[in-house]
Amino acid sequence: MSVYVFSPTTGYMWAQNYYCNFNGNPPHTVVNPYDGGSWCCPIDVSGSENDNVWLQFDGGGNDAGCLSITTTQWSGVCASDPAPWNDAVIVRFYSGANATGTLLGEVMFAHLKNRIANQTFNTHNAATAMVIGNLAGDCNCGCAHGVHTHMQGSNTYSPSFSCNQSLTAGQWVYRVG
Ligand SMILES: [Zn+2]
Repeated sequence: MSVYVFSPTTGYMWAQNYYCNFNGNPPHTVVNPYDGGSWCCPIDVSGSENDNVWLQFDGGGNDAGCLSITTTQWSGVCASDPAPWNDAVIVRFYSGANATGTLLGEVMFAHLKNRIANQTFNTHNAATAMVIGNLAGDCNCGCAHGVHTHMQGSNTYSPSFSCNQSLTAGQWVYRVG
């Protein structure tokens, strides 16, 4: 059983592993937080400034689902730009309660303001939706221009999207486990 993480906003897929709109651009950036996880699969999801950024996932059900998550603030997304573009929330999914058991995977949401605090939540294999921040203004950090959140995963899978494909809150963008 896998945990499916849904689009954090209603917006558009602006970039994925490779930039959508330019031939010859370098691969879309993966940033490496302190934990050195095997991050991959970067995507940019557009929205409007101050939109809520939703962490939504299906919980995975009772068979090897997700009993708990943690939210961790991290800064270091951009090489040279300040908060809030530099700021992210890393969500970690655990098989056990109170952030125990197996670390199933991680999803990062970057360029957020009003970030959720560092916390642990027992989610009991259940579908979960919570606001973890708000979209910052036009991104000034060398990835896609315009208001968006940069996402990436560790021990996750992301499907191949079409460039500029619309995304809704009901569409999964990462599969954990
Ligand atoms: Zn990005």
